[in-house]
Amino acid sequence: MAESTDEVKGQFLFCPVCRLNHDQGRKHIYTRKHKTSLGKILLKFGKKVDEARKFLKKPSVEDGELEPGSRFWCHFCGENVDKHVTDRQVSIKYGGVFEHFASEGHRKNVHNYWWENGADKNLKDKFLVDRDTFNSYKDGVDKKLQDFEAEMEQKRQKAVSQIKQKEVTQAFISQQPPQIQVTPEIVYKTVQNEQGVLQNPTGWHEGQRVWGGGIVKYR
Ligand SMILES: [Zn+2]
Ligand SMILES: [Zn+2]
Repeated sequence: MAESTDEVKGQFLFCPVCRLNHDQGRKHIYTRKHKTSLGKILLKFGKKVDEARKFLKKPSVEDGELEPGSRFWCHFCGENVDKHVTDRQVSIKYGGVFEHFASEGHRKNVHNYWWENGADKNLKDKFLVDRDTFNSYKDGVDKKLQDFEAEMEQKRQKAVSQIKQKEVTQAFISQQPPQIQVTPEIVYKTVQNEQGVLQNPTGWHEGQRVWGGGIVKYR
């Protein structure tokens, strides 16, 4: 048989872009429905990719596990892929996206997808990461990881010295006799009534005897 299968009239084929079975063969990709569905997919996926690609030039390394278990659906490979690269101590933001976009398998699938669906050639590069770009990205990530580790080491050292300091203080306290609780002395202020009589609950003001108050309440 000389004809390729998708050109056989009357045979139903499934279009994953439109999510329907059709018997239009290759002509299907020129239908308005197919072009609209494809446009929507590329636009939606493209927006997510644009967001991620900001970190291709400026690699970002974050403390701990970023968005645990998060994956993204690659429309061209038809599979779920890890979004970030992480060892749970540190995460490389969108590292999974770039690794996938730089892989040979993905590159092949993108080319196939573009051909099979008649997608706009100008949009292809957005979904690919070439070898040179990926290599310089990896260098950038290495540098960030080194900075991150140096920072973590500094934090660790600081924590260690704080713990040591605490131990010294506690050892010192435990060697001291039990403390006697001393109630802080209340300082009473001397007041003067309308008759000019000085009044202080202690009965004293600046070494002089004054009225202690008696039954008259101290204000
Ligand atoms: Zn279609
Ligand atoms: Zn892919």
